[in-house]
Amino acid sequence: MGLSIGIDVGGTKIAGGVVDDSGRIISRVRRPSPADDAEAIVQEVIAIARELADSYDAQSIGIGAAGFVSKDRRTILFAPNIAWRDEPLADRVEEALNLPVVVENDANAAAWGEFTYGVGANANSIVFITLGTGVGGGIIIDGQLLRGSNGFAGEIGHLNLIMDGIKCGCGSRGCWEQYSSGTALVRMAREAATADPERARTLLDLAGGNPAKITGRAVTQAARMGCRVSRKAFDQVGRYIGFALADLVSILDPDMFVLAGGLSEAGSLIRNPAEESFMDQQVGRDYRPTIPIVTAKLGNDAGMIGAADLARRAFATTR
Ligand SMILES: [Zn+2]
Repeated sequence: MGLSIGIDVGGTKIAGGVVDDSGRIISRVRRPSPADDAEAIVQEVIAIARELADSYDAQSIGIGAAGFVSKDRRTILFAPNIAWRDEPLADRVEEALNLPVVVENDANAAAWGEFTYGVGANANSIVFITLGTGVGGGIIIDGQLLRGSNGFAGEIGHLNLIMDGIKCGCGSRGCWEQYSSGTALVRMAREAATADPERARTLLDLAGGNPAKITGRAVTQAARMGCRVSRKAFDQVGRYIGFALADLVSILDPDMFVLAGGLSEAGSLIRNPAEESFMDQQVGRDYRPTIPIVTAKLGNDAGMIGAADLARRAFATTR
């Protein structure tokens, strides 16, 4: 049957599940993440793995976590939203559970989940992009997850899209995530609503009249109600997405782009302007097949499913 445990470690919650070899989650556990305490979060991961391993005959454990993961997939070198620094996570969990462990960057794990069991199941090469608080990514080329020489490949949210642009949390300026994340959408909508409250009336009504209270959900709702300011914010964000995708096509030539994360749930509101600017920017567009931009299928489960499958494959030949 080949059961494997997948664990997705985030800044606010840890989700674990037992996943079978068809990508189906047959049991799941979810707990809050004690993100500011490095040891507490290791213990929480072990507790979740143990709870699942006690009830099911799982043969391996895959862990996806936001951050830089060592090339050998055993150590979290740095995690921006979790207190882990040089944390030997695979060793710690293996010692506690006596099961083999693989650690992977969370967006890479989610990309692998969508590629194996989700919307990319028939593709050969995909670029997976999470549009949430920031922009993350995972790249699969010719059926292989692209890790690079240090294991850090696929951090596409920090492409330097705009010279001297908006300051990013990473310390650089003009990173793509400052223009195409859910955070960017809200910033643009707030600025537009402050500049022209009359035109943004539908949106402001949803935010109690206060631009500072505008949320991503409100921008989506107002855009669906025909609010021009909200639609323009989606158009701007979508255009930046299209720009970056055109660059990525030149480098990677994938079969498809997969959009995931909170902002992708706005569907055509974000996909249409992204497709339009992508087509405009693409080199030699009349002479190449159209590369589809699709919305991810597995939602928040992609990371857990992908991590479990990476672990199953890593240890399939040794057990
Ligand atoms: Zn950055």
